[in-house]
Amino acid sequence: MSVMPNTPLNADLHCHSRVSDGLLAPAELARRAHANGVELLSLTDHDELAGLAEARAVAEELGMRFVDGVEVSVSWGDDATLHIVGLGIDPANITLSEGLAQLRSGRDSRAMLMASELDKVGIHGSYAGALRYVSNPALVGRSHFARYIVEAGHAKDVKSVFDHWLAKDKPGYVSHHWTTLETALSWIHGAGGVAVIAHPGRYRISKKELRRLLGEFRDMGGEGIEVLSGSHSADEILEIARYAREFGFLASRGSDFHGPGESRIDLGKLPPLPDGLTPVWQKLL
Ligand code: AMP
Ligand code: MN
Ligand code: MN
Ligand code: MN
Repeated sequence: MSVMPNTPLNADLHCHSRVSDGLLAPAELARRAHANGVELLSLTDHDELAGLAEARAVAEELGMRFVDGVEVSVSWGDDATLHIVGLGIDPANITLSEGLAQLRSGRDSRAMLMASELDKVGIHGSYAGALRYVSNPALVGRSHFARYIVEAGHAKDVKSVFDHWLAKDKPGYVSHHWTTLETALSWIHGAGGVAVIAHPGRYRISKKELRRLLGEFRDMGGEGIEVLSGSHSADEILEIARYAREFGFLASRGSDFHGPGESRIDLGKLPPLPDGLTPVWQKLL
């Protein structure tokens, strides 16, 4: 008699709705995840919890498991920005929600500074232009600028806008102080959540710095790392899986889906986790 292999759970624990910089409403996102075969979904909007109730309601209606999540913007070291995903957080936690509100409050003035830098390189009207793509006025970000810059005809797609203007060291990039790693972890843990380093393959820091980050995060009580992410190459997946084993991290899987046509990987379409890793959802279910 043949033994059926264990079918891995189709978990997607990182995505965005238009409550931050995604394109879909939380309800549409949950419907799309379900249609794509996702069995466990987390909505992780940037610095914002406002989409969770709507996404959860639809997920429950469809019989899909759902955990409340958030992706917190963090400044680390000299001038690096990191993203820490909190999974299984309590959205009613006051310290978390007030901390995030404070974190969001710096975005509008940052956006005005970005617009004046873009003006200098001939991209005009970007503050008002970006705001037309924003549905949550507290959450204006670089993706909204990128969509406007494409619309204005300066670039063919969002990715090339980042390559030319919005990535670090490009003319429209404005350095910003978010929150500290320690504070982000205290918010997530205080709200009963599990902390996960988002897309470690995307940070432009040296291997040595990355190891220092992983050690620091672990020593502060951080539990997980995104091994599978829409922004990781096949080689990066293997490399990060090695870090997960070495540092004893739980492994996460998240598409980082922002919208149809804009994201390389759709909801629920990542491969299964590599062997020998403990999935983070063991702590969430
Ligand atoms: P912000 O929080 O305003 O700094 O915006 C960060 C967001 O910009 C990320 O979550 C992505 O959605 C988007 N982003 C950053 N870098 C890139 C890139 N190279 N290509 C496309 N989108 C990017
Ligand atoms: Mn984003
Ligand atoms: Mn991110
Ligand atoms: Mn993200």
